Amino acid sequence: MADFALHQDAEVLRLITTEENDEQEALFAAARRQREIYYRKDVYFRGLVEFTNYCKNDCYYCGIRRSNSRITRYRLSLTEILHSCQVGARLGFKTFVLQGGEDPWFTDQRVVEMVAAIRAAYPDHAITLSIGERSQESYKAFFQAGANRYLLRHETANDAHYRKLHPETMSLAERKRCLFTLKDMGYQVGAGFMVGTPFQTPENLVEDLRFLQALEPHMVGIGPFIPQADTPFGTYPGGTLALTLRMVALTRLLLPRALIPATTALGTIAPQGRELGLMAGANVVMPNLSPKEVRKLYALYDNKICTGDEAAECRFCMEGRMRNFGFTPNMSRGDPPDVEARRRV
Ligand code: SAH
Repeated sequence: MADFALHQDAEVLRLITTEENDEQEALFAAARRQREIYYRKDVYFRGLVEFTNYCKNDCYYCGIRRSNSRITRYRLSLTEILHSCQVGARLGFKTFVLQGGEDPWFTDQRVVEMVAAIRAAYPDHAITLSIGERSQESYKAFFQAGANRYLLRHETANDAHYRKLHPETMSLAERKRCLFTLKDMGYQVGAGFMVGTPFQTPENLVEDLRFLQALEPHMVGIGPFIPQADTPFGTYPGGTLALTLRMVALTRLLLPRALIPATTALGTIAPQGRELGLMAGANVVMPNLSPKEVRKLYALYDNKICTGDEAAECRFCMEGRMRNFGFTPNMSRGDPPDVEARRRV
């Protein structure tokens, strides 16, 4: 950190845009040092269950947007969801991430039923929801049913840019409100953004980092934008590996205790994208636990990796990849350091 004056926007902007190899390497090395203070070489494993690809929203970048009539829609039953968790638990996962589109079939009551059933079967596991924007009352009901964490990327912290990525019915103010509400309520919260979305400027990325500093989320998801052919942004260029890695490193330096996944999107744009993400300061991976039959249908973007594997293959493939790069897989819940300390007393 001492090497970089990151309180200055100009310095952050310079590092976002640098193409100097030495400087990038110094940035990644600083990020690794920072991450090792709290997390050593540990990489936390989270089991991801993509339980519905129905969505009422129409985000211009996303393959499961409402207007995409070219995908087959699916929705897992509660039995299938519980089965995916069971497979995960047997593989040693202590965290389940339930992600989906904003599917109106999943009313509050049904989400509560799902969370409560997972909680009853796994009293000590962390349950993470990632199902978009809901009311304060809904978030409260999910929390009371046993959810501990919530992932809701802010996508971009710049209002004008947000409006270029989403239809008018959606607003950045509302998304931010959800994030602060979730945090106040006691959830461990994950925000985050895509790198290289259409119309994004380096200044926008500075704003993303400053927003994260203000929110202080426990987790930050960062991945490259990848075009999906059946969306309005299907022909736009995707985000680059180098810029995504620089954003991961800067996020690590500004939020040293954050849990930062090396995302599937990063692994999709480069064969060792996730490993490089870890080398740039990330410390979480999210192997897929969804039933093999539906993997391909959760197509947020094109060419998504790991869609042909069984859960166990993903779990062990990832472990091998991590070890090859000198990292230590950690199958514990992976709470953030301050929460961890409180859980021990
Ligand atoms: N409906 C939930 C989950 C959305 S999917 C929600 O609103 O939070 C999870 C994430 O995938 C999104 O937050 C977005 O950042 C990312 N995503 C969507 N389309 C993408 C694309 N084309 N390329 C890369 N990431 C994408």
